[in-house]
Order: sequence, then C-alpha cells, then structure tokens
Amino acid sequence: MKEKNPIFIEIPRALPREVPVVVRVLGWAEIYGQFEKGQGEEQAARCIDCGNPYCEWKCPVHNYIPNWLKLAKEGRVFEAATLMHETNPLPEICGRVCPQDRLCEGDCTLNDGFGAVTIGAIEKNIVDLAFSQGWRPDLSKVKPTGRRVAVIGAGPAGLSVADRLVRSGVAATVFDRYEEIGGLLTFGIPPFKLDKDIVRLRRRIFEDMGIEFRLGVEIGRDLAFADLLNEYDAVFMGTGAYREVAADLPGDHLHGVLPALPFLVANARRLLDETAVPHPQLDLRGKHVIVLGGGDTGMDCNRTSIRLGAASVTCVYRRDEANMPGSRREVKNAKEEGVRFLFNRQPLAVLGEEQVTGLRVVETRLVPDDKGRARPEHVHGSEETLDADVVIVAFGFRPSPPAWCADAGIACDDGGRLIAGGGTRLPFQTTNPRVFAGGDNVRGADLVVRAVHDGREAAAAIVQQFALEAAAAMDLERATA
Ligand code: FAD
Ligand code: SF4
Repeated sequence: MKEKNPIFIEIPRALPREVPVVVRVLGWAEIYGQFEKGQGEEQAARCIDCGNPYCEWKCPVHNYIPNWLKLAKEGRVFEAATLMHETNPLPEICGRVCPQDRLCEGDCTLNDGFGAVTIGAIEKNIVDLAFSQGWRPDLSKVKPTGRRVAVIGAGPAGLSVADRLVRSGVAATVFDRYEEIGGLLTFGIPPFKLDKDIVRLRRRIFEDMGIEFRLGVEIGRDLAFADLLNEYDAVFMGTGAYREVAADLPGDHLHGVLPALPFLVANARRLLDETAVPHPQLDLRGKHVIVLGGGDTGMDCNRTSIRLGAASVTCVYRRDEANMPGSRREVKNAKEEGVRFLFNRQPLAVLGEEQVTGLRVVETRLVPDDKGRARPEHVHGSEETLDADVVIVAFGFRPSPPAWCADAGIACDDGGRLIAGGGTRLPFQTTNPRVFAGGDNVRGADLVVRAVHDGREAAAAIVQQFALEAAAAMDLERATA
C-alpha cells in the first residue's frame, strides 16, 4: 500500500482568497478575504509542531503559535482567541499587517521548501470568527486597584498598554489628538491592508473593557502634560514618530512634491468621512506619479496612487529589490496592481518651474561599505529624466519628541528617541520615573507588532512600579509607627 504523504505536503500552503487585481484597484476594500469553510483548520493542521518553535521566537510578542494552531485545527475558536490575547492585545490587526515573511512565517520550519504555515492569516481568521460569534475578553476576575494611568497616543503602543493595565485592575484613560483611535493603524496604513471597521470594532471592545478614550485632545495644546502628572498615578507616552525624512533635493519645494504621510492621512480622512471636502492633492486622475522610497510607506503611497486614478505610478529606489526594506508581500501586491519599479536609481533633482514636470535620476551600483552593507554608488553618465506631475517622498520618519519632554525631565537621545529602560530604570521607564514610553517614539519608525510588545511590557513595568511604591509606603508607615 502506498504510504500517505505528511499533511503539510498533502495540503499545500494557501492564503485566503485574494480579490482579483482588476476589481481591487477600483476600491479600497482589503484585498484578502477569509478562508473557505474548513480551510483555516486544514491550514493550521499543516503545523508539524517541530518542537523548537522558531516562529514563536521570531514573533516580537512571542505568540504561543503552535499551541493556538492546534486549537485552530480542532475548531476550538474561542479557546484559540483567548490564548492569542494572552500575548497580543491586537491579534486580528497583527495578523493583517505584520510582514510575516520577515517574522513568524519566515522562520517556520516548513518555509524551507514546503511553504510556511499561513500563521498571520490564521491569527486574523480566528479572531474575526471569535468576535463574530460573540467572544469577548473576560475581565470578570479583575479586581480594581484604584490606580489610574494616562496614556498619550491611541496607536498600537498606547492601545496595548491600556489593554494590559485594565486587565491588571488599573484604570486607563487614552488621549489622542486625532478623532479616532488607532494612530497609524487608522491614519497611515490604507484600508486595502487594514479595513477601518476592524479598528472600530476593537474600539468598542476596549470601551466595553472599561478603557476611556478622550479623542481630539492634544497634550501640550488642549491639556498640559503637567496636569496629567498631577491627576494620574503614572503616564505612558505612545506618541509615535512623525518627523518626515526630507527629500533634500533641488526642486523639492515645487508644487506637486508631496510628503508621504500628509498624503496618506488626507486620503484616510476622506475615506472615514464621506462628507469631507476632498483634498485637491488627492486628485491624481491622469497624472504621472513617482514615489521615492522602498519601504512599507512607499508601497502604501504607490497603491493609493493607483486607486486615486494615476495614469502611471513609478517607484524609484536607490538599491536593488533584494535590499528593499518593506514586506515582500506588499511589493508583490504593488507590482500586480500596475506599479512600475525602477531599482538602482538615485533621485538627483525634481524638475519644473512652479509645478513638477520631471525627476532627474542616476543609475547606481551597490558596493559593500566598511560594515559590509550594500552602499549605492552613482554610475557616471547614466543620468536620465523621468516625466512626472507628482513626486511623493516616502523616505521614512524620525521620532518627534514633544516640546514639553524637557520640562518634565524626560530625556531623548541625539536622534530624538525617548530614552526608556536601561540603567536602574524599569523597562520602558523614562528618565522621569512616573513616565513610561514605548513604540515608535522610543525605537524610531518600526512595526505595529513591536509597538504592541512595548505597550504590553510597559504596562507590566507600571504595575511593578505601583507595587514598589506600595511596599515603600508600608515600610515608611512601619518605621514611623
Ligand atoms: P502611532 O501609531 O504613530 O500612534 C501615535 C499616536 O499618538 C497617534 O495617534 C498620534 O495622534 C498620537 N499623539 C502624538 N502626540 C500626541 C499628543 N501630544 N497628544 C495626543 N496625541 C498624540 N507597520 C507594520 O507592522 N505593518 C505595516 O504594514 C505598516 N505600514 C505602515 C504604513 C505607513 C504609511 C506608516 C507610516 C507606518 C506603517 N507601519 C507598519 C508602521 C506602524 O504603523 C508603526 O510602527 C506603529 O503604528 C507605531 O505605533 P505607535 O503606537 O508607536 O505610534
Ligand atoms: Fe506573526 Fe505578527 Fe502574529 Fe507574531 S503577531 S504570529 S509576527 S503575524
């Protein structure tokens, strides 16, 4: 009798159904659907439980991946969702936006020739299913401690810290200058990667857990930071990194040169509020768009421009494809949607009188620098001019520490990153012992899942700080009794 192949060979790796390119570029809906009935269980069953879960180590929040894959395989949706939330307050979001090819799936044992387990899609699928069937986080055993924490920033770092605090009986009030929660989840990452209804549902769940949101409130403008220090037992800063790396090119002041984030935020706002007057810069119909930069933000600008009706979208990147920093999946999606990639091209100048008419570029070749990294070197005589009506600059972001940090004794490093942890400080504690910080404002522009990690760990440190304070107060009481 012929021996049966192992299940991971019998059942090939499969992602949920993808919306066909011709349809998806006409709208803003997420491009991946859900697994067919039974397919999620089948895909989860491909995990061989290799005994040394590299996936788990590579996942920045160290999700219990093989354990919840087993539950998913057995159709135990609620138990799987509960286990997922033990390590990650936003699993349905990470399942959608993590660059899994560089994280969990990149280190799956089956990735070596058999096709990694579709970990991210299963994570998203299970949580979506659990929510639709009424599963909610269980806080029935939580005892209030009477402690209160103010969280500045409703991005993934702030949301994660708030989730962990209320689970520990600490009241959390989250302030954000934007009108909706999510930070870059709502205003940066476009809806074809993350549907905003997913973030809205998460907001309702957080509110039911007791998290208070005070939106449209900018700390430092509408409310002083000192007031938070006076009113709350501790403060967490999850304020992100918003200083754009400038193009620094001749002609970068011309009409038609757009920084990436205001462009994406304007589009997000337009889509959130259909009554909003569309920003004129979003009218790309018939225009030739060039996007500078090869990261995730660049890919989002490419694909947004396609959906805004651009006649052509060209992505210019100074290294080769192998050296692109963004997720491989997003590059593939951009290519499928019609984006042209010009690798090994360095922009030299934006051309035009008042309005952009073109971009001057030079070819590059990669030479190793003294640290062994590929450094782009100009190939002389290879300069050329590309036609363009719009140039979108997506060279990344640097931390933008609020001005009041210095007054509050919160130190930054030379790059503007808040100093948190290290020395005798608790993890994620800043140089002001009552203030904690995490996410992009500490790391520099990074990933959603790393901001989630920081929030989770910062909450643990805040709870530890409260315990230390309580112990010190008891010692003092004993000494003075
Ligand atoms: P943010 O998400 O930036 O949230 C910070 C929040 O703080 C904001 O809501 C802001 O309004 C608020 N805030 C700041 N200052 C104040 C103040 N003074 N008062 C009140 N509120 C304040 N990562 C991925 O993993 N996958 C992706 O596909 C991906 N795509 C991306 C696409 C784009 C266009 C961008 C820009 C980033 C992308 N990232 C992606 C990175 C990811 O979004 C960030 O790493 C993550 O959001 C950082 O979380 P955070 O909570 O630290 O900051
Ligand atoms: Fe993978 Fe991200 Fe989920 Fe971790 S959180 S298992 S890295 S998709």
